[in-house]
Amino acid sequence: MIASTLSGLFCEAGGFHIDPWAPVERALITHAHSDHAAPGSRSYLCAEDGAAVLRRRLPDAHVETVPYGARLHIGGTQVSFHPAGHILGSSQIRVEHRGEVWVVSGDYKRQPDPTCSPFEPVRCDTFITEATFALPIYTWDPPSRVVDEIVEWWRANAGEERPSVLFCYVLGKAQRILAALRDRAIGPVHLHGAVAGLTDTYREAGIAMPPAERIAEDMRGKVLARSLVLAPLSARGTVWMRRLPRASIAFASGLMRVRGVRRQRAFDRGFVLSDHADWGALLATIAETGAARVLVTHGWSDALARYLSEERALETGTIRTAYEGEAGELTAATDES
Ligand SMILES: [Zn+2]
Ligand SMILES: [Zn+2]
Repeated sequence: MIASTLSGLFCEAGGFHIDPWAPVERALITHAHSDHAAPGSRSYLCAEDGAAVLRRRLPDAHVETVPYGARLHIGGTQVSFHPAGHILGSSQIRVEHRGEVWVVSGDYKRQPDPTCSPFEPVRCDTFITEATFALPIYTWDPPSRVVDEIVEWWRANAGEERPSVLFCYVLGKAQRILAALRDRAIGPVHLHGAVAGLTDTYREAGIAMPPAERIAEDMRGKVLARSLVLAPLSARGTVWMRRLPRASIAFASGLMRVRGVRRQRAFDRGFVLSDHADWGALLATIAETGAARVLVTHGWSDALARYLSEERALETGTIRTAYEGEAGELTAATDES
């Protein structure tokens, strides 16, 4: 019912693509990260909650929206969007045709996130799952504990008049961290320009976050000495960092679970905080869908597909994408900026 093509996933019965990476007639979009929302298609359809960020990312696009859970008839199919818990407005897309149900997960997580609706398990026959962190080594701590660690790190640095620069994905992760700092005594918080614009979009969508000031061109020295700064990884090693002498630098990502990666990249700290499901959550979610067939994409897809067929006796396959999401975050090409 849904096939992998050169432009991405295609549903022939409905005449639409899902998260295509090449321009198409009709694109259904799970969420606004650049590896899922490529420019140039004639029309876009996303969940209502995700429209503001998608429009910000693709300002020239014709974007239509639908509320979570509402059924649409597209061609010979019935389509609905369901929360994926990944970033604001992120969705799984459910497609039904002649009694058969497929769900395309997009990216998803099961941990609490104050900036988006929680993941909703959807029963289906075939589940297309992501596998960004599909290895048993990837297990996440409760986010509240990670936020405690961030606050302690900031406090120690502030005591020494050193800025704390926390690199993170600019769409989703930065706002999630900021929102989680709401009831903590922390501050001031400053934002790199690439984070500030998207944070404004989240605020306009009604997401509650503490105040945070955009770093202006001439801002440096004393004003930032006790600050927590949220910035994209691409800012690292650029002249922009010169305004933050003696800064302690950290990275917030699921990748920080692997100590070697943190050392190799010479971060002072690594905070294990991901917007993707960890190994246990992937397996639990796949079981909850009741799907007999699971197609795996994004990241460690071969490893997950093999495990599911050998240990869970599921019918499996893998789907290649043009991009590889958060796992590629350490390379400049996929850094969200
Ligand atoms: Zn994503
Ligand atoms: Zn992705």
